[in-house]
Amino acid sequence: MKLSGYHKARGDEVTLKTDYDNLQDFDKVYIAKVFTKTKVDDKILMLSNIQYGGTGIFYDNAPSLPVEVEHCAPDYSLYDGYVQAQVDKGMKSSALKCFTDYSIGFLTRDCFRKCGFCVNKKYDYCAIHSPLEEFYDSRRKKIMLLDDNILAHSE
Ligand code: SF4
Repeated sequence: MKLSGYHKARGDEVTLKTDYDNLQDFDKVYIAKVFTKTKVDDKILMLSNIQYGGTGIFYDNAPSLPVEVEHCAPDYSLYDGYVQAQVDKGMKSSALKCFTDYSIGFLTRDCFRKCGFCVNKKYDYCAIHSPLEEFYDSRRKKIMLLDDNILAHSE
């Protein structure tokens, strides 16, 4: 959503893809892989117009987004077509409320606890990340915070 917001603000046309078809037709394709078990063909990752990231590929050494993207307002309309397609297939709209009802973001990032089962071991602190205004959309009634460990921050 942040990448989409960043590119749309620059006049680019942005499409959410949920498959790997016709990737050569796009000037740039971003692939985000969250989980290590998700399969992505290496040949796709080697295409010249692909940029990829996420803990699913880099584990705890995933590169950060550029600051101007990380702190861009999310494009909450990015998933509109996907949501409508799911509803058309019979899914209840209540099952899609993450896409429709929430402003989503991080007030803080990182954590110092280093739990054995957690990917989040890179930092020894929890830091302020974004002000709420950065990702808050007043048309959405709820706020979803994705902070790693918000209670690790003293404020
Ligand atoms: S983010 Fe949560 S699970 Fe991960 S190290 Fe911190 S407290 Fe543990």
